[in-house]
Amino acid sequence: MKPIDRFVTNLLGNPALSTLSRQDFLQLTGRSLAVGALGTALASCDKKPDASSTSASTASTPSGPVPKLPATSPPAEVPADSTKPIELEQIKAKTEQQEGPTPTPLAEDQRVGYALVGLGHLTLNQILPAFGSCTKSKVVALVSGSPEKMQKVAAQYGIKESSCYSYADYDKLKDNKEVQAIYIVLPNGMHAEYTIRGAQAGKHILCEKPMANSAQECQAMIDACKKANRKLMIAYRIQYEPHNRMVREMVQTEKFGKVKSIIANNGQNSDNPKHWRFNKALAGGGSLSDVGLYCLNTIRFVLAEEPTEVMAYIHSTPNDPRFKEVEEQVNWLMKFPSGVQASCATSYGHHDEKSYRVLADTGWIKMDPAFPYTGLQLETSQAQGTENQIIQHKIADKDHFATEMDHFSECILDNKIPFTPGEEGLQDQKIMEAIYQSAREGKPVKLAAVDKKDAFRGSEPPGGPAGL
Ligand code: NAD
Repeated sequence: MKPIDRFVTNLLGNPALSTLSRQDFLQLTGRSLAVGALGTALASCDKKPDASSTSASTASTPSGPVPKLPATSPPAEVPADSTKPIELEQIKAKTEQQEGPTPTPLAEDQRVGYALVGLGHLTLNQILPAFGSCTKSKVVALVSGSPEKMQKVAAQYGIKESSCYSYADYDKLKDNKEVQAIYIVLPNGMHAEYTIRGAQAGKHILCEKPMANSAQECQAMIDACKKANRKLMIAYRIQYEPHNRMVREMVQTEKFGKVKSIIANNGQNSDNPKHWRFNKALAGGGSLSDVGLYCLNTIRFVLAEEPTEVMAYIHSTPNDPRFKEVEEQVNWLMKFPSGVQASCATSYGHHDEKSYRVLADTGWIKMDPAFPYTGLQLETSQAQGTENQIIQHKIADKDHFATEMDHFSECILDNKIPFTPGEEGLQDQKIMEAIYQSAREGKPVKLAAVDKKDAFRGSEPPGGPAGL
């Protein structure tokens, strides 16, 4: 006999409850017995009676103590708003790494349905697996030029055959009611076209970085989404990631006083000259628009202000087949209104280096590595008398893509402006164009002054400024 059957049989066979019919019993304990009280009941089934359970108020019988139903089996409380986090008691000392907020996953039919466009490295290795960590987003459709690959992926992720589209059929997404958002994960030179067509098909757009190949394209994307009354977000995953959000909080609260200088580097050795990343029409630029953009966007994010001037140098190794159309290496300086000076470097030609350091009055903040998908490390140093106190901050990794997609879904569900809307991508593009111009002309280039903090950002993601 199963423990639950044994429990119910014992209970109904108990003289103290002999006047209750099975139906009375079920009514008395309530429908929610199955959810919460059942757990308590099952647990008590397997427990031997102890001193407290045979107290004076409990009548003892040959088959054991009579359970005090209302006291031991209260109906489980189902919160009226099931999207509120379930409160759990603290189980770790304050010296341990703390857990993030309890996840509150939405039911499948309440989640925002995404169509993924482009089944390349990022989609297959990062974005599709990230849906497993999402609480508000689900993948419901695919768009690809490779039917064979798409069929395999659809089978793996339970996507209907009728929700798999070729690029030629992209506009038919319009008729797929399960799709609310399109995530564009194509070569950069295709972002503008697919964003504009996606918005015209009535879908909200999440677009990978860099937003497009030019400021003009970025503006056209913003205009198209506005005209169609659809939301547009650029997938700047770092702005949703807890380590980098913690840095921003330290800078904004002046934990180490005023920031004076930031040094940032994002470079890697990309070795396939045939890849679209080395084709100007598809990539827009070289290392700057691909990986250097992380330095630019993250510095703007942690400072919450905009540069007023840039100065840059570009170098590409002569006769290297990779750099016929796009640049290898860019070093640039940025001046900010607060007086902060940032020095950045990016390259497609050196060993992986993805870090930055914020130098302030009484301490420094180091992110090394700062930009990979996992394993980010945050360290700070602070003057303490004649010593420097160095702290390695323990912050649990969160899936960057799940966090960013769930933010976009929340903005769709609650009608909010995304934290990184199209305007954020346009601003980066304008600054990158100034960097290229400076390198070309060999002189500093001024940028339009922006007085407001976080001028191009929308609603803050949940979890407070540190996203914890
Ligand atoms: P990828 O080359 O692996 O995938 C690109 C996909 O586009 C492929 O499926 C390819 O078949 C398809 N495609 C369609 N038309 C194409 C064409 N004309 N030429 C080439 N490919 C074509 O690239 P990826 O690394 O997945 O990058 C895709 C986008 O994601 C880029 O915009 C990139 O900047 C961005 N990205 C972002 C991150 C991040 O951390 N947020 C990381 C990597 C890439």
